[in-house]
Amino acid sequence: MNAPPTRPEASPAVRLKIAIQKSGRLTDSSLDLLSRCGLKFSRGKDQLMCYGENMPLDVLFVRDDDIPDLVQEDVCDLGLVGLNVVEEKRLAFQARGIAPLFEIVQLLDFGRCKLCIAVPDGFEYRGAASLAGKRIATTYPNILARFLAERSIAAEVVVLSGSVEIAPRLGRADVICDLVSTGSTLAANHLRQVETVLESQAALIRTPVPIAADKQDWTRRLLMRIDGVEQVKGSKYIMLHAPRSALAAIAKLLPGSEAPTVIPLEGRGDRVAVHAVCRESVFWELLEDLKGAGATSVLVLPVEKMLA
Ligand code: ATP
Ligand code: ZN
Repeated sequence: MNAPPTRPEASPAVRLKIAIQKSGRLTDSSLDLLSRCGLKFSRGKDQLMCYGENMPLDVLFVRDDDIPDLVQEDVCDLGLVGLNVVEEKRLAFQARGIAPLFEIVQLLDFGRCKLCIAVPDGFEYRGAASLAGKRIATTYPNILARFLAERSIAAEVVVLSGSVEIAPRLGRADVICDLVSTGSTLAANHLRQVETVLESQAALIRTPVPIAADKQDWTRRLLMRIDGVEQVKGSKYIMLHAPRSALAAIAKLLPGSEAPTVIPLEGRGDRVAVHAVCRESVFWELLEDLKGAGATSVLVLPVEKMLA
């Protein structure tokens, strides 16, 4: 029988806190990441904080814009938030001379989008210089200002808190700088993308303050599990049989894998079993190439958990 999971009892001071978006595009993927790390908790409707039942880790549900501040102020040890918000806040903190700053621990495989400059249909765009003297509406004034400064362009940044895409139609701006994933919102507002200012995805951030000694063990374990969950995404386990003489050709074909495990096959001196973890997508073409190189009985399996 499996041993039941341990229930680490810890006083509130030694419990880790992680901030995630309360309700929005990052929420489901953030919760999914934490549950894949083994965290169990029950979330009541409108609850702002949940206690981890099987780890000394509590989850705070907040607006995504508040996550860098909570981590910077060490109210939370960790946070999951988009790079767009991370960069905007980092530049704002830097401008205020705040140091040391919260740190990015690792990028995560969700929440992908781009911060783009988009112009109304009919706007004659001939490179970034066309933005000179224009009014640009955005909720990301610091990132936009950096983009303009790097290109020595003088433009007026109009800071809005939302609905940026309708600013040109309302006469509040000439062009916009806003987040895009599919581009359908832009098209619906008669705008077209002309520049990518920032490529964004979710990131794990951590407090600038050294983590207390009694929290370090669980911080290390959680970070290792998050890394494991990220590595597993897209990873596949490949098993095949092959003649020993084909090993070099087969090893060359296996994408993103470390040295494969080679196991002799009982009573078949010339043939071996090859096992490898591939960290990239495995397509039918690869299986066909492996077969062409002499492999038989090729199996591709999903990987559920991985600890480097
Ligand atoms: P909140 O109430 O938490 O402030 P919000 O309206 O700012 O919510 P969402 O629209 O839920 O936030 O977006 C959260 C994050 O999701 C963005 O900051 C960005 O990192 C990411 N994201 C991914 N795709 C898109 C997209 N198409 N448009 C906007 N954000 C996106
Ligand atoms: Zn927000």
